[in-house]
Amino acid sequence: MSNTRRSFLKTAGGLAAAGAAFTGGLAVSQRAAAQAAQAGQTTEHTLPPLPYDYDALEPVISAEIMTLHHDRHHAAYVRGLNAAEAALAEARATGDYALVDHWSRRAAFHGGGHYLHAMFWKVMAPPDNGGGGEPTGELADKITEDFGSFANFKDHFSAAARTVEGSGWGLLHYRPEDDRLIVLQAENQQKLSPWGSTPILGIDVWEHAYYLDYKNDRGAYVEAWWDVVNWPHVAAHLEELRRAAAGETS
Ligand code: MN
Repeated sequence: MSNTRRSFLKTAGGLAAAGAAFTGGLAVSQRAAAQAAQAGQTTEHTLPPLPYDYDALEPVISAEIMTLHHDRHHAAYVRGLNAAEAALAEARATGDYALVDHWSRRAAFHGGGHYLHAMFWKVMAPPDNGGGGEPTGELADKITEDFGSFANFKDHFSAAARTVEGSGWGLLHYRPEDDRLIVLQAENQQKLSPWGSTPILGIDVWEHAYYLDYKNDRGAYVEAWWDVVNWPHVAAHLEELRRAAAGETS
């Protein structure tokens, strides 16, 4: 422990003891201030707005699903992540680490949910305004290089999405170590994900993402979803990641 920290703790303890001699309220506020300092910095995560109207992805995804999905589900992941990180900060401040395992799991689950949904809204666009079709340029070349052809990639990705066991995601990641695109699955929001790669495209295959429109036919949802993929956004993200990997500045 550093001298600074030791003297701070001594001071904080002294303040708390002095506070106790006054009113209860004063002691509580002094203790709270000392604890806040021990908690360190935390982030207040916020729900990003949808980049289009709720009905913009119809008929592929209904306004009803988009409203519930963004305003309820994604919002709940943001709240859950904030609550988990606040609980971890409190454990740090009070030295009560008994619940670290529990809150670490909640932070991973809700953090995964927040991250993937924030990406999900951006990798989609209205079918008549930028969504669908096939990628072009560097992204198209990279897909052909790493999967043989766009058709092969699409089949592989669709199969990954269709066959996620239970709730989860079908994902396309970029791995800078060997400059490769890889297709993978995530269970829930955080399991099965490899280290060192970044998602650039993903489809949510939790039932809340499609059940109201497609009932139990996940395959029909996955097939229709290609009509709302925002390829220009995916291509720009890949370009940015590859440039960063090459150590260039933009
Ligand atoms: Mn979802």
